[in-house]
Amino acid sequence: MIEKMKSCYIPEIHIGINLKNEIIKVFEEKPDIVANQDSIKIIRGFIEDSLIENQAIYLAKDFDSIRLKNFIHSKAKSIVAMGGGAAIDIVKYISFLTKKRLIVIPTILSTNAFATSKICSKEIATKGSIEAKIPDKVIISLEIIKKADKRFNIAGAGDILSIYTANYDWKLYDNEKPEEFDEDNYNETIANVSLSLLNSLEKNARQIKEHTYEGLESLAQLLILSGYITSMYGNGRPESGSEHLFANSIELNFNNKFLHGELVALGTLIMSYLQNQDVSYIMDIINIIGLPRSLTEIGLTFEEIIDALIKAKDMKKNRYTILHKLNLSRSEFENIIKELIKKNIIME
Ligand SMILES: [Zn+2]
Repeated sequence: MIEKMKSCYIPEIHIGINLKNEIIKVFEEKPDIVANQDSIKIIRGFIEDSLIENQAIYLAKDFDSIRLKNFIHSKAKSIVAMGGGAAIDIVKYISFLTKKRLIVIPTILSTNAFATSKICSKEIATKGSIEAKIPDKVIISLEIIKKADKRFNIAGAGDILSIYTANYDWKLYDNEKPEEFDEDNYNETIANVSLSLLNSLEKNARQIKEHTYEGLESLAQLLILSGYITSMYGNGRPESGSEHLFANSIELNFNNKFLHGELVALGTLIMSYLQNQDVSYIMDIINIIGLPRSLTEIGLTFEEIIDALIKAKDMKKNRYTILHKLNLSRSEFENIIKELIKKNIIME
């Protein structure tokens, strides 16, 4: 029986090439704009300058409570977000508070932030993720996406890989039903839909690596669908487990700039090993797509990984995972990461 199924608001989605007219329509509404500098440059190269004159443009990095008041008082009926996960998260929160129509034009595919109602940015969410608004309209122009550094787009695949370990954690909860946790039973139908996204990622891995329009389109569709599943199911359980607790722990505890999807992909490798699952399945997809397995490349030290692993299980209330079952000590985590390095599953 499906015990938890929320009514799901599905936004208007456009994915493809030649979407200039769709983008022009958005700016004709004279929305407020939240973006980063690079995205403003990209959009100026895409539409007439006159279309974005006289509009309030806020840089995503400048967001604070004073600017939030400006949004509340602004006469614009809609807000458009352009950029990656951080800019989109901020706008999802603002439009949730102001009830304004929300349009998102991602410039990179580094997370599924544009397709969910959850916010993970540490500027807003202090622990785990918080509820916000799902965008009303998403325009993914593949010409814009293709302009981005390949590494940013490829990182998005991490948010699909996570289904592998999240699914295991969910089943683990269902088998053990530990008293301190009160979660929903494993839902075979939702789980199978999620796992099918993982199959599809595997099939399209080469195209994604090559950064072709076909590869980017499939990645964008997978991220949108993974966002739908989260919204429809009512929480991130089908695609967020121990690997996300690990990624969130790094994002919250260290100041460096990381790519969320790269952290999640690394977390998926580590957790699938702890879960005694077939790590080579994940490693093969990671290798084909070209996601990093080296700590230096991701921007992490050995010590940071260990600190993050220790804190990971407290990142989200009421989510039972392999980390809770094993309850490992610092020295046990150290040995496991050393083992993974020795086996060449991750590199220093
Ligand atoms: Zn994620």
